[in-house]
Amino acid sequence: MADPLSTTLRQLIFDRANGRCEYCLLAQSVSAHKHEPDHIIPRQHDGETTAGNLALACARCNRYKGYNVGSYDPESGELVPFYNPRRQEWSDHFRLEGASIAPLTPEGRVTAKMLHFNDANRIEERERLMAVDLYP
Ligand SMILES: [Zn+2]
Repeated sequence: MADPLSTTLRQLIFDRANGRCEYCLLAQSVSAHKHEPDHIIPRQHDGETTAGNLALACARCNRYKGYNVGSYDPESGELVPFYNPRRQEWSDHFRLEGASIAPLTPEGRVTAKMLHFNDANRIEERERLMAVDLYP
């Protein structure tokens, strides 16, 4: 399952993301677990191990995303791909409302749902970090 990434590629992914999860925006510096390069399109779906298909993800976003590539939009019932940090802008698809990440689009909705952006413990964590200017 794990794919050996070169140190150079790993560093590029980390630096490009400024050390933040490209999905929920949590910084590595305040996270207990190590952020990892995520295959945006998983290898199981023929996604390549290249900079253009990798995003920095926190452990929780990475785990919840798993091998999925999308889900059914809770509003329309349509099958929709996840937000793609390489091809799309975060702010076009999500907006912070307090410590909640509000989805703005179908891609945003399926990503927020499947990656559990707004689980109570994650919102509480963001509230604590926002109080000391460590999020977003
Ligand atoms: Zn995350």
